Amino acid sequence: MSRFLSQRLNRLDAYVPGEQPSEMEYIKLNTNESPFSPPDEVIAITSKELCKLNLYPNPDGTRLIKRLAKTYNVETENVIIGNGSDELLAFSFQAFLENGVVFPDITYGFYPVYAKLYDVPYQQIPVMEDLSINIDDYTGIGKNVVIANPNAPTGITLEIDEIEEITKSNPDNLIIIDEAYIDFGGKSAISLTAKYDNLLIIHTFSKSRSMAGARLGFAIGSAAIIEDLNKMKYSFNPYNVNRVTQVMGEAALREEDYYAKKRQEIIVTREYTGMRLQDLGFFMTNSRANFLFAKHPDISGYRLYSKLKEMGILIRHWKTPRISEYIRITIGTKEQMDSLISALGEILSK
Ligand code: PMP
Repeated sequence: MSRFLSQRLNRLDAYVPGEQPSEMEYIKLNTNESPFSPPDEVIAITSKELCKLNLYPNPDGTRLIKRLAKTYNVETENVIIGNGSDELLAFSFQAFLENGVVFPDITYGFYPVYAKLYDVPYQQIPVMEDLSINIDDYTGIGKNVVIANPNAPTGITLEIDEIEEITKSNPDNLIIIDEAYIDFGGKSAISLTAKYDNLLIIHTFSKSRSMAGARLGFAIGSAAIIEDLNKMKYSFNPYNVNRVTQVMGEAALREEDYYAKKRQEIIVTREYTGMRLQDLGFFMTNSRANFLFAKHPDISGYRLYSKLKEMGILIRHWKTPRISEYIRITIGTKEQMDSLISALGEILSK
């Protein structure tokens, strides 16, 4: 630490992302990326943009936003794009939550980091014994709320009417729903933004559209909320989404059939993997995301993580209370999951 570091930054522990090894020596099931490359059409269109990198991107992201608005059946004034959904979450914490926010104790690890970074008072509401969110804890709470739906790292998903209940019962507070994993079996609450001006939905191209490396997220909400987020963005970095990523995002939205097929493949592989893990004695939460959250009665989460790593398979483990016995496994290809299943079988037989 230098003597120049602010107290605010000194006080917080930065977010720790999953390992990103530079060599592809691992079967990588640790950061919920898609195992599938973007389709050839998207790559071809994107490549053509490279020779224009001498020019700044369109700061408004006009073309991509138009396409997003069409895809999600909203107006362009209801959409903003960001450098990954993390950036839009950061903008939201900074722009809207100075009076405080509540979120579950077991959820995406970035929420408390952003809260501390931006001096946002926060309260963590314990999830239930089975790690699910009790919506009664949020109904009429009279505070700003952030919920990941499906939740991370449990994959447990709220229904759209439950999101509506939370939104409707807290009309004077902002309800932020982080739908990073919604495309793997949940139902998006985007349609509710037309009805409720206190609802903000945050999405990403990182998971279901195979673009984690391109860094693209978007948010949908009332025109007033989006205007505020734009004020935030233009006070920070007007060129937050580079031109290659903007073109790539637009091209990706023209290939919905490809992504729908791949999402379905991931869902089928998730169900298959879940059954095989159950056969091996694992307990799992009911995940509707592109990952499973599992624990075994005979072996600790950390031991599973380290043994798998020795065998060339990366998964995620946290030492956090309540979930330290669990491991989170990203759903890869069927072949990758078969390798995982046989590695786990070997570990458990010893
Ligand atoms: N929200 C949740 C719940 C996540 O798990 C992630 C991925 N780590 C993100 C947001 C951020 O995704 P990205 O910045 O890649 O869009």
